Amino acid sequence: MSTDEEPIESEVPTAEMVVTDAAPERHADTPPLTVTFLGTGTSTGVPVIGCGCEVCSSDDPRDTRTRCACHVRVGEMGVLIDTGPDFRRQALREDIARIDAVCYTHHHFDHVVGIDDLRPFFFDNRRVMPCYAHADTAAVLRRNYDYIFGADPYPGAANVALEEVDGPFTVPILLYHGEMPVYGYRIGNFAYLTDVSEIPEASYAGLDDLDVLVLDALRPDPHPTHFSFDKAVNVARRIGARQTYFVHMTHNVRHAEANARLPEDMQLAYDGLTFESR
Ligand SMILES: [Zn+2]
Ligand SMILES: [Zn+2]
Ligand SMILES: [Zn+2]
Repeated sequence: MSTDEEPIESEVPTAEMVVTDAAPERHADTPPLTVTFLGTGTSTGVPVIGCGCEVCSSDDPRDTRTRCACHVRVGEMGVLIDTGPDFRRQALREDIARIDAVCYTHHHFDHVVGIDDLRPFFFDNRRVMPCYAHADTAAVLRRNYDYIFGADPYPGAANVALEEVDGPFTVPILLYHGEMPVYGYRIGNFAYLTDVSEIPEASYAGLDDLDVLVLDALRPDPHPTHFSFDKAVNVARRIGARQTYFVHMTHNVRHAEANARLPEDMQLAYDGLTFESR
């Protein structure tokens, strides 16, 4: 008879999942933000495996794009937007030591599968980390990561609680990624909108008076579930942020060339780019 049936004292206790039904709300007194692009590439990453095109073989470091994620330092707090497959290397590269919350945009592989790499952020504390998501995204995460969010979680699972968005600094922005509802997030006067092909009219109200906008711009050619460059530029113009950065680019986009064709207040982001916002 094995003793494995005894509950194992876990290094990191697993939280119960909480899904609240909170209304979005603007928070005016957000401290200054330091935003770092952890990754700016599409789901394959760039270079693409096995591809020898001029972007995949470019020696411009801005043409190397890991999967999209973003770190926002708000005062002492660290907020993460998405945990893609490159999250571990991104966190090491940027020396990220503290994360207080994760905002998930949607459930696709390139935005979530690094979730287990959140575990080191619990090693020195036993706090539960809230993970915010649209209810549809939360449902998929619950199903796909039963060992984390299920009724009987694995003892060493990440210490996270899945919640529908109501963070101290975040305002969810409803977007559509093809037919799928996804969330963008506004933190202070910074908004991060990735994997989007349509912004519902009502969501524009949450995007006024932005300091910095981050927006999906997949490639020059149209795509059913992402903004192409032309669409992204038009949407960015309408939103009218002081500065717009584009993300989620494919290997059809050479940084230096594409950037030179964009207006100065709209630029391509690249991995490791950091900026301040309010
Ligand atoms: Zn994506
Ligand atoms: Zn390529
Ligand atoms: Zn996606």
